[in-house]
Formats: sequence, C-alpha cells, structure tokens
Amino acid sequence: MLVLKFGGTSVGSAERMRSLVSLVHNSDPRIVVLSAMSGTTNALVEISNALYQKDTAKAAALILALENKYSEVIADLYKTEAFLQKGKDLIAGHFNYLRSFTLDMFTANEEKAVLAQGELLSTAMFHFHLQELGIDSVLLPALNFMRIDENEEPDMAYIEQNINLELKKHNGHKLFITQGYICRNAFGEIDNLKRGGSDYTASIIGAAIRSPEIQIWTDIDGMHNNDPRVVNKTHPIQELSFDEAAELAYFGAKILHPTCILPAQKRNIPVLLKNTMQPEARGTRIANIESAEGIKAVAAKDGICAISIKSDRMLLAHGFLRAVFEIFERYKTPIDMITTSEVAVSLTIDNTRFLKEIVKELEEIANVEVDTDQSIICIVGNLPKNKPGYAHKVLESLRDIPLRMVSYGGSANNISVLIDSGMKAKALQALNSGVFNY
Ligand code: ASP
Ligand code: MG
Repeated sequence: MLVLKFGGTSVGSAERMRSLVSLVHNSDPRIVVLSAMSGTTNALVEISNALYQKDTAKAAALILALENKYSEVIADLYKTEAFLQKGKDLIAGHFNYLRSFTLDMFTANEEKAVLAQGELLSTAMFHFHLQELGIDSVLLPALNFMRIDENEEPDMAYIEQNINLELKKHNGHKLFITQGYICRNAFGEIDNLKRGGSDYTASIIGAAIRSPEIQIWTDIDGMHNNDPRVVNKTHPIQELSFDEAAELAYFGAKILHPTCILPAQKRNIPVLLKNTMQPEARGTRIANIESAEGIKAVAAKDGICAISIKSDRMLLAHGFLRAVFEIFERYKTPIDMITTSEVAVSLTIDNTRFLKEIVKELEEIANVEVDTDQSIICIVGNLPKNKPGYAHKVLESLRDIPLRMVSYGGSANNISVLIDSGMKAKALQALNSGVFNY
C-alpha cells in the first residue's frame, strides 16, 4: 500500500481539493496523509496565543475569521444540499469546540488540542468531497494509532500494531485518508510532531505498513540544486541518496522536513518528492542508492549562532573538548558545525534558548566569543574522499565571501561553510555559477 502526503497548499482551497481527486483516485490501495489547509495552523497558533494572554475578544475574533474562511470553502466545495449540510455541521463542531476554550483556563495541553483542529478539518472535508463524488474512502483517525513516547520519539511498535488494526477494520477498502502532524503522547493526550510534521507522519506510516514507496506531494517539482527564492536559475535533482537528502533537509531545503528521512531510511523505503501542480514532472527520488559522483545541491540555514571557545591554557589539553561538549549536552542544545585548531574550537548552534547559560559555563574554562546572524551554506553530493577537486571548486567559487568556518571531511556527502547572513544571497549565487555553471 502506497503512502501519499499532500501539504497545506495542496488542500489550500476548494479548487485545490478538487484537483487532488485525480491524484489520489486509483485502483491501487493507498493511504493519503493531509496537512491542514495552508494558513490554518498559523491561525490556530495565533488563537492559542490570544487565549494564553486571556484576550478572549481577540481569540473570538480570530476564531470567527477562520470559521468564515472555512464556510466559504464548504460553500464552494460541495454541490448537494446533503453534503453542504454535512460540511456546515463539521465546521460548526470544530469551531464551537475552539470557542469552548475562550472561557477556560488555557495550558500547553489545550494548545495542542487547538492545533490539531486544522488536520481534523482538512481530512474530513476531503473525505466528504470524495463521498459526494461517489468515490469510496475511509477516514483513518490518526489519534487512534500515531503515538510518541516519553522522549517524543514515534512509538513504532505501538503505531505498527494500531494502524494495522485500523486498516483491518476496513478490509476491502482501498483509499484511506488520515491526518498528518497530529498524534497522542505517552499519556494519551493530543500532541503533535512539531511544525511541518506531516512529512514525518507520512514517513512513519510508510515504515509502519512497510509501504513500497512514500510520496510527498508539494508545490515544487522536487528538491532543487539551490534555493529558487534566492537565485534565479535552479533545476530539480532527479536522485538523491538518503544521506544526501538528510543533509539537505537539515540544512535548509524547505521542501522536506528533516526528521522525515529516518523512518523511511531505516526500512529502506524510497521517498518520492512530487509536484501537485505538475504531476507529470519527474520530481526527486530519494533512495538507498549509490548516487552519481559530484556536487548535487546547496542549501542554506539561517539564524545560526557561532561560538568560539579559546582555551586559557595554551593547548587543547585532553578533556577540554569533553568539558565543552558536556555543557551543550546539559542544555540539550545540538551542535551543527565544529572546527578546531590547536588552541581553540568554534562551533555553531541554531537553538539559542540557553545561550546565556551556556556562555556563562564556557567562560569558566575558556575565552568565549559569540557571533549571531550567521548562515551555514551546505554543499551536498557524493564527494569521495579519494577524489580531488570538490573542496577546491567550492572555495574557488566563494573566493569573494569571507568564510567564518569551513567544515570538510565529516562525511563524504557534505562541505559546510559558515558566513555572515548578509552574504548569503551572494554566496548562493556564486555557487550557482561556480559549481552549477548558471
Ligand atoms: N499543519 C502543520 C503545520 O503547518 C503540519 C504540516 O503542515 O506539516 O506545521
Ligand atoms: Mg511542509
């Protein structure tokens, strides 16, 4: 059974939902994972913020504005009285539920219940649309099988067992619709897989049912060699290995959520990135392949903070790096890039929540300097260590850009450089002409 995931823009209007039908309607059995309509999760975050602030009037106004938007979609989507009524009842149910929070006490748990409404709405709306067209489909409630454990990791054993139970209840049916993003936590409460988590849902489901392929449908024709929002010429990449795709997703290629690769990779299930606007385009295939040699793509990750740590003593005595890393570990702050010299180490983080505390502890053992507003430019491909020229090509292309850090050799898939964010556009452009000859 295939898994197909469609993001917020693919269900973003009645018209988009209508054009989805031909993509999902097929004689092969499939599970379709949907995001909330685009803009909805952001709106629900805003509503939650108003509720946190006990601004009941603002929350009520935001809820009404969102409800009006959904009423318009319903009016456009359904043609028969019966389904219009079903749509109205659906919306009334979810929005009255949202309104029930306005007078209540509001905590993180309530917020998660609020955030779940977007996917519950989009999946039910699309399911009704299929029903109105006479297409058989089954709505699979993600909250009955998606679960994370105490470490917020997917509870694969539970998911596998329960999604298969759900599927068994509907033997003989072929088209299943389910919610991306939402799940239950170890306490059985409504939770989610973090923003953008619907890709992760699709990958987890694919792994759980051992799907032959996971398709992620978005509004671009695959992963591109460079950021199309920054440079003016890019091309889609046809094939990537799991490791290459993971580096790109982690370092900023927006098309795919970084966590999404792992469940698929573990079970060796190819992930296909496809374009809803151009279904015939080939897209990008991510699989367990020995991909062609060479640089395939560059991506940039902004909002990076660089920390230089210079040992008080002249040498990096043994135990120094351990002491440094332990500090980051205590604050559960992942490190992205590292470079070292004999007397100093520089590293980067993107989660600066505990920066002050970390710097304070580091200063007890070293001299510390912090630079914010940095960007990691990540150059990804199959770059065998015994082949010359790749690092040279990158550095040569970037000859006019001051490089704060350079990291090479960590894996055979990646060269990373750290630059001032103000130089990002120039750097991506320089790589586009120097490496990809645009
Ligand atoms: N609706 C959620 C979000 O906007 C999840 C997703 O779209 O992947 O973050
Ligand atoms: Mg997304």
